[in-house]
Amino acid sequence: VKHAFLTSVEFGMWAPPQRMTISSWADAYRIISARKGNPEPGQWRTSRTPYLREIMDAIGDPDLEEIVVMKAAQVGGSEGCARNPLAYWVDQDPGPTLFVYPTQAAAEEQIVDRIRPMILDTPKLAAHLPGARADMTAHALDFDTMAVWIGWAGSPQALASRPCRYVVLDEVDKFPPFSGREGEPIALAKARTRTFGHRKKIVIISTPTTGMGAIAKAFEACPDKRRYHVPCPSCGALQALVWSQMKWSSVKDEPLEMTIARLEAEEAAIFYECADCHAQIPESERDLLVEQGIWVSDGYPAGEHPKSRFRAYHITGLVATIGTRWRDFAVKFLKIQKDIAKLMEFVNQDLGEPFLDQIGRVETSALRAKAQRGHARGKVPRWAGILLVTVDTQKDHFYWLVRAWGRGERSRLIDLGIARSWEELERVTFGARYALEGCENELVGPAAVFIDLGGGTRPTPTGTGRTRCTAGAPATRRGGSRSRGTAPRTGARRSS
Ligand SMILES: [Zn+2]
Repeated sequence: VKHAFLTSVEFGMWAPPQRMTISSWADAYRIISARKGNPEPGQWRTSRTPYLREIMDAIGDPDLEEIVVMKAAQVGGSEGCARNPLAYWVDQDPGPTLFVYPTQAAAEEQIVDRIRPMILDTPKLAAHLPGARADMTAHALDFDTMAVWIGWAGSPQALASRPCRYVVLDEVDKFPPFSGREGEPIALAKARTRTFGHRKKIVIISTPTTGMGAIAKAFEACPDKRRYHVPCPSCGALQALVWSQMKWSSVKDEPLEMTIARLEAEEAAIFYECADCHAQIPESERDLLVEQGIWVSDGYPAGEHPKSRFRAYHITGLVATIGTRWRDFAVKFLKIQKDIAKLMEFVNQDLGEPFLDQIGRVETSALRAKAQRGHARGKVPRWAGILLVTVDTQKDHFYWLVRAWGRGERSRLIDLGIARSWEELERVTFGARYALEGCENELVGPAAVFIDLGGGTRPTPTGTGRTRCTAGAPATRRGGSRSRGTAPRTGARRSS
């Protein structure tokens, strides 16, 4: 009786259109262009990168205002979190949109190599450019539903005061240093959305640099920080994939080069060790693991989340299912042991983690053997701005090291060793003084100590430390005692 005057078909015509999610829209309509070396051109399939599903749908969720995505390089982040939303907004939920890239060159490369091909190859999108491919000028796209401006930090598009409902800031850690002349670019872009109230949406995406970088700060500031957890095939424990649990078989006393060669030749096994039951999960199960994963908020049990309009996601390269292998990560990691710049690149690009707070732990593992043999203390170089101590907590002792840091990530190892108790640790780190190069009677001490502690557990030498990103510790080839490396015994990874 309700629809007495309308047939169901007619009623459907008058009902509000069913709003699709961004992931379902992409699965239905989005075409990945074959033009620019895309590994998997053709119809977009969210099932190929299942970790992107929730993020895309969060971007389309009217209850959320800001989405932060701190990601590794090869995880499809910009495709899923920037271009799919753009396509969806044009077709389903339009509003004036601003994209900001780090530089003019980056913005133009995006337009020419990514955005324009996406529009031309996705019919549903091309249909919204009414007879006007010529209108696809360099920095503005005029769809029949909405306008899109594409700028870079400091560009006229980014600085114009026109209101925008959607703002996407891509690769914010590459934004030029804030000059103070025009205002901080991220804050400026965000200010554009003011008039849209609860309908606005801000998406901030980047591969991180250091803990001081824009994306790491935005991530930390978010009340809801989510990491992708996968269930162990043996015990079912949900856990975020972390580098410290990546293991490979190595023969005792084998030179590093040999391990690398055997890994490359696929003679050495590589596996992910469950943090809970220590089952060895082979790489062949990776894609299945990732398919079964869910996003878990730091500090909350699976399925529960803080209530917030701001949400952050961290995507490690270890969940990447297209074009990467765990084995290649291990080979790369072993090859760059002594090269800090390359280690930073590995932590940023491959693990999607900020660097500085990880360095001590990555290094501690590499230098462990050296510490056991004893060594001479170093002099502090004149260019050093600060001395920092990093401590790696073991079952019944600490590995510590002191490093001098200068401008531009320049650094030098000054001292390292083992402490058996808190008192000893305090004495050898905070109590230590080192001579300045060239003026031997001028002594300097460490300014800060970073200790990797268990999530919420009391930091005692006998307690279990928790590492966020350590060197993958090789396991000895069958028999003998298996090295547990620096890996602690914890379940789900939580924020510290
Ligand atoms: Zn397990």
